[in-house]
Amino acid sequence: PQRLPFANAPDSDYAQAEIRDRAWQTVSQVRQQLGQSYQPWINGEFVSTQGTAQSLNPSNPDEVVGTVGLISIEQADEAVATAKAAFTAWRQTPVAERAGILRKAAELMEQRRHELNAWMVLEVGKPLRECDGEVSEAIDFCRYYASEMERLQEETAYDIPGETNRYHYQPRGISLIISPWNFPLAIPTGMTVASLVAGNCTLLKPAEVSSVIAAQLAQILIEAGIPKGVFQFIPGKGSTVGAHLVKHPDVHMITFTGSQEVGCQIYRDAAGLQPGQKHLKRVIAEMGGKNGIIIDESADLDQAVAGVVQSAFGYSGQKCSACSRVIVLESVYETFVERLTEAVRSLNVGDASKPGTQVGPVIDGKAQQRIREYIAQGKQEGTVAVELASPQPGYFVGPIVITEVAPDATIAQEEIFGPVLAVLKVANFDDALRVANGTNYALTGGIYSRTPSHIDRAQVEFEVGNLYVNRGITGAIVSRQPFGGFKLSGVGSKAGGPDYLLQFLEPRTVTENI
Ligand code: NAD
Repeated sequence: PQRLPFANAPDSDYAQAEIRDRAWQTVSQVRQQLGQSYQPWINGEFVSTQGTAQSLNPSNPDEVVGTVGLISIEQADEAVATAKAAFTAWRQTPVAERAGILRKAAELMEQRRHELNAWMVLEVGKPLRECDGEVSEAIDFCRYYASEMERLQEETAYDIPGETNRYHYQPRGISLIISPWNFPLAIPTGMTVASLVAGNCTLLKPAEVSSVIAAQLAQILIEAGIPKGVFQFIPGKGSTVGAHLVKHPDVHMITFTGSQEVGCQIYRDAAGLQPGQKHLKRVIAEMGGKNGIIIDESADLDQAVAGVVQSAFGYSGQKCSACSRVIVLESVYETFVERLTEAVRSLNVGDASKPGTQVGPVIDGKAQQRIREYIAQGKQEGTVAVELASPQPGYFVGPIVITEVAPDATIAQEEIFGPVLAVLKVANFDDALRVANGTNYALTGGIYSRTPSHIDRAQVEFEVGNLYVNRGITGAIVSRQPFGGFKLSGVGSKAGGPDYLLQFLEPRTVTENI
């Protein structure tokens, strides 16, 4: 069997006026299509539901992006039953054919890049450029996992005279995907297509607030030719339908990305053996972070300020990889804080659907409220260096930098998931590493330094899944920077990396006496 080579998809070149104009025209066109209804896709059909949810534009919550049908428990059970029925044929479908569907989906995403960007700008308030990077990532996941499965389908021989020993992989069965809203296209795409190409029948339950984008993904997979029952789009409430499916005896594996709280709950729920269940479930859980960047006395401060601002305030700090702590050595602390403050002051906060916006809103009113409470707490735990005003009427929270924060302060320990940056002062590099490692999380981390011994030590001692040296800590690229954390940031191997697909497969050995 052949393995096609993988190459990353390039982002749109917005320096070209023509591309830029088309991108913004598409936002206006998509705006005309707001307010439609979207339905779950179960066993090859769009089905009506009793429950629905409205998805709102966080930059302007009066704008209803769409109404999404929410499945019931009975419909969830039906989806599992039809997935079971479709499994035999799907597992026998040649890898080339499965991979072909992923590549077709990638092609459709490439054709609809501007539209997908526009839907994301409007449904989750993400600035255009970042949406565009996300579409590239979704395309990359399709092509990369297609190529990875072509590699893994090769049987390995461990033969000895008189005996053949053949090692190969088979799919696991029924696979449940539970995705978050913050990368509303790339993350559900990555988890779903990995599961599908490995031969599993796959149910996608997206986050409620980003279900319209997830519906576009479902449409793309359907158009790409995914057979009925093999993929099913099942928007629904996490706490009811999600929790029910996690415990379903016929589900073999759960791939989750989201908060630590829900991830731990799923891990616990999935461990229990239900009546009739003949297997233990595998759980992949990618959870949060409290990511820090260390700035030492040898750092290039211009570079460091730019990297910290981008990492902390890109998508309003709502990335699992976002920087929420900056750990600065005493000798450069004053200068760094001064320059950081100036840089943050110049950020353009506003409606994500306006050109020029650098920082948009946060996802919804609940998040806005939660972040405001953390800010109130932070004001007791440190000194405000800069806080920007929040525009109206969306769910805005002004980016804020709080300095003189102690390592054990709440805002230095808990994931806030908003545009709130804590600055911590340390006496020396040993302290910097100790403080950096002093949380429950281990997702991303960074260091700005021109001291080789510091960089060497960070590589060994800084406990994070993805360490970035002298650059920002967000924006991992498929196959170049396989992504994921450990400690309470998650279990499972890295998305977009060479071990990822193995989690969706069951290895087998066949020994034959000859
Ligand atoms: P969330 O945990 O609130 O929700 C994630 C998903 O879980 C949603 O689809 C939700 O409906 C579902 N869910 C909720 N309760 C459930 C239950 N009891 N059983 C089953 N499913 C349930 O997270 P979120 O707010 O959507 O996303 C933000 C979080 O995701 C942050 O903590 C962020 O750090 C994390 N995240 C991590 C990564 C990573 O790769 N490590 C990537 C992106 C986001």
